[in-house]
Amino acid sequence: MPTGRAAYADTRVWLLKEYGPICAYCGETFPAKVLTLDHVTPRRGRSAYDRRDNLVLSCADCNGRKADKPFLTWILANKVRARHLYVYGQHLSVGILDILRPMVGTEVDHLLERRRRAPVEPRPVYGGLADDEDSPYLEDSPYAPPRRAEPEPPVAYVQRASPRHGDGVFAAVPIAAYSPVIEYTGELITHAEAEARYPTVPGAGAAEHTFVLQLDEERAIDANVGGNAARFINHSCAPNLEPIRVGDAMWLFAVRDIAAGEELGYDYAIELDERHTPAAKRRFPCACGATTCRGTLLRSKGARLSPEVAEARRVVEARIAALDEG
Ligand SMILES: [Zn+2]
Ligand SMILES: [Zn+2]
Repeated sequence: MPTGRAAYADTRVWLLKEYGPICAYCGETFPAKVLTLDHVTPRRGRSAYDRRDNLVLSCADCNGRKADKPFLTWILANKVRARHLYVYGQHLSVGILDILRPMVGTEVDHLLERRRRAPVEPRPVYGGLADDEDSPYLEDSPYAPPRRAEPEPPVAYVQRASPRHGDGVFAAVPIAAYSPVIEYTGELITHAEAEARYPTVPGAGAAEHTFVLQLDEERAIDANVGGNAARFINHSCAPNLEPIRVGDAMWLFAVRDIAAGEELGYDYAIELDERHTPAAKRRFPCACGATTCRGTLLRSKGARLSPEVAEARRVVEARIAALDEG
């Protein structure tokens, strides 16, 4: 089994032969010598370059952008990137392909088929590791890739008036179960700060409170500051989305297959410091229309998740844990 430099060179040559001189993240073709190996998820152990199922070819530009970002942060930021990694990373571990597959949709199938029918002729590989003379990392190098603007990720959702409540958010395309749909953005604040900003005084309703989403035991996200379309997603007692923490961010994942045109919804599961009395529940009424509607946005911590949501949490959290452990 080759180690160190030899393993690096071997894996690099093998990837060039398998896929051609293409960056697995941006999908662009480069002179072979500017492409370096990148660990898709954090490297494990000393002989990391022997682990082909965690290595892809990357251009200098993508390498720089990725830096030390956790895998999911890097991939979730850009669906085009996920699609390329799926097409040019068919040798990657099952855990990685499992999280990519629902993100890339069926349109990649024909890309894979085309690649199988017409394997790319590898270009000659010049040397092994880049040396100082012609390193792609030197800006004046003829091999330095051109600077490009990050492509806009395709949008899987659309915001418009909802029959349920105010504006809602709807699936623009079919969305596969367990795929990340949208990040819930906003200002990261403590629970104390959230309570100071939006005190839950008796008699007051849910209007403002519903823009604050709990991230973990200490922190919450205030979507009134820097929030995106996720703050317009309505509550549902029979949700098709579930908020799941990914590092310091909250993402809404599909708990099942969602058809194009369906309104998106997640369980706000608001938890008050005070007891959830019938009066308190009435201050946060729900009219989501689900047959399982509990009549309120409040949910106590001990309350059981539906089997569908519980299963989605299990699958997604297992994937996150497997991919981001290092
Ligand atoms: Zn690239
Ligand atoms: Zn309801």
